[in-house]
Amino acid sequence: MIEKKVFEEILSKVKIIKNDETCPICGGLEWIYDREKKYYYRCKCFYEKLYKNRVQILNIPKKYKNASFSSYKVNNLSQLAFLEILKEYALIYPFFPFVVRENWVYEKYILYIYGKTGVGKTYLSIAFLNYLLKEKGISGYFISFREFVEELKNRLLDKDEFKAYFQNIKTKSILVLDDVGAERDTEFVRNVLFEILDYRYNNKLLTLITTNLSPRALIERLSSYNNPSEDTSLGDRLYSRLCEAGEFIYVEGKDERKL
Ligand SMILES: [Zn+2]
Repeated sequence: MIEKKVFEEILSKVKIIKNDETCPICGGLEWIYDREKKYYYRCKCFYEKLYKNRVQILNIPKKYKNASFSSYKVNNLSQLAFLEILKEYALIYPFFPFVVRENWVYEKYILYIYGKTGVGKTYLSIAFLNYLLKEKGISGYFISFREFVEELKNRLLDKDEFKAYFQNIKTKSILVLDDVGAERDTEFVRNVLFEILDYRYNNKLLTLITTNLSPRALIERLSSYNNPSEDTSLGDRLYSRLCEAGEFIYVEGKDERKL
């Protein structure tokens, strides 16, 4: 048994410790009021908290928790170009780089990252997500395409749940679709891939695709299948979207995981 007075003393000390932990800038509100501009903005501590929970928020594998631009091992020019492109995207996001072709301006918001296994496609894509969360407080989302397909298959019996899950993933402001093409090729898989890319293309949502397949191989895979509502094949339609909005990044190198 503790005397009430002693207990209160302990309690007051606990309070002091707690106060020390709250942010000295905002006092724990997570918002700061700018008197001159008359608006509220997020305190730094808010982003720090988000960043601490990045494994859950970004849905990244734990082993990539500390992936960063500065720790990416550059072994050749293609890897250097890959790094520089992702840095540029991270810097200018939510804007996109664009190219001008014959009086038309094309914004580039589908990053098609391809190359052999182990050259760091996944690593750097996650470094990209980590950077955006840490520096800009923007949370993207990572999912392996195989996992995405599995999650959808698990929901096939419940139409509403299926739709809700698909909707949740396809509307993410930034999405890394990892290792596309590694799963068994079926009509279901082709449709899922086309639908998600088509949706993201139409809504100008930044999408990073990592894959072992060259663009031609992916398009050929989809070409054999016709869209029921149109004469054109899924491959043809995807091809036109990638030509317009795609940035193609080929990453060369030895398999770092085997070294
Ligand atoms: Zn704060």
